Amino acid sequence: MNNISFIGLGNMGMPMAFNLIRKNYHVKIYDINKNLYKPFKSANVQAAKNFDELGKNSNVFITMLPDGKALYNLVLGKNGMIRRIKENSVFIDCSSSDYESTIKVSQALKKKNIRFLDAPVSGGVSGAKNATLTIMVGGNKSAFNKSKKILKCLGNNIIHIGNSGSGQIVKACNNMMLGINMIGVCEAFLLAKKFGIDLKKFYKICATSTSASWAMQNHLPIQGIVKSSAANNKFKPGYAAKLILKDLKISQEMSKSVKLNTRMGKKALELYKKFCSQDQNNLDYAAIIKILIKK
Ligand code: NAD
Repeated sequence: MNNISFIGLGNMGMPMAFNLIRKNYHVKIYDINKNLYKPFKSANVQAAKNFDELGKNSNVFITMLPDGKALYNLVLGKNGMIRRIKENSVFIDCSSSDYESTIKVSQALKKKNIRFLDAPVSGGVSGAKNATLTIMVGGNKSAFNKSKKILKCLGNNIIHIGNSGSGQIVKACNNMMLGINMIGVCEAFLLAKKFGIDLKKFYKICATSTSASWAMQNHLPIQGIVKSSAANNKFKPGYAAKLILKDLKISQEMSKSVKLNTRMGKKALELYKKFCSQDQNNLDYAAIIKILIKK
């Protein structure tokens, strides 16, 4: 039986950890924010009191952290977990981490005979809750095959791409499209509104037209039309603007490294930078509509 340490219990990590618990995995949880342990109390789940407790008795580690820096520090930083992880364990990073940190962590773990998979996810909080995430995986194929049963508890479209880091490359490209797309959705709805179009009807038409998109149909930045939209809840995330800012930065760094000018990705990054610099980081990424309304 696999003993899983699940690290990072935020908007995504919490429902993902619960899905593993529901499938009767023995899960030990950890987050720097101990308030997040409360919902697990009734499920009688073991929570690590401190960082040092992590690693003991686990042979599978899953991280759902804000970024690659947090992953790097957790594993290779001061008193890093690498010292406590047993040989032949599997370490699965489901966070959206940058490529460089991913490769550094992957190589360091490999030296200790610990198999590392970068396995970022897509599908948002609803996908995490319903275990319908798409999971894009980079790393050793046999480690992937061994981990598939666990990943299937979290998602329903699980694809091995190639070498370590390839999951994160695909994720950054995906999120560059998402950021650009969200800005497009905002602009089109603002324009239709200016011309007095009923936005419910506009949505109904676009949802079955050539402009239909995941961002529009799940995260519409307009209140009262799409049930899962953060706009119905004062833009409480969901998917925080600071996270898409991080993902857009990653995709621009990748573009620079291969000398490709991704113009729309660059523009999306500029707009999210502006938005986040106005203390809006912790709002959902769909709240970008607030600055697009202005001249
Ligand atoms: P979040 O900020 O809600 O959760 C991150 C959690 O990690 C927090 O609870 C935080 O306390 C914890 N944490 C930070 N540093 C830690 C450390 N050193 N040790 C232990 N815990 C630590 O973020 P989220 O929305 O759950 O996203 C997590 C990751 O998934 C991000 O990389 C994000 O880009 C990606 N992602 C998010 C969504 C989404 O819709 N929210 C969708 C797909 C992918």
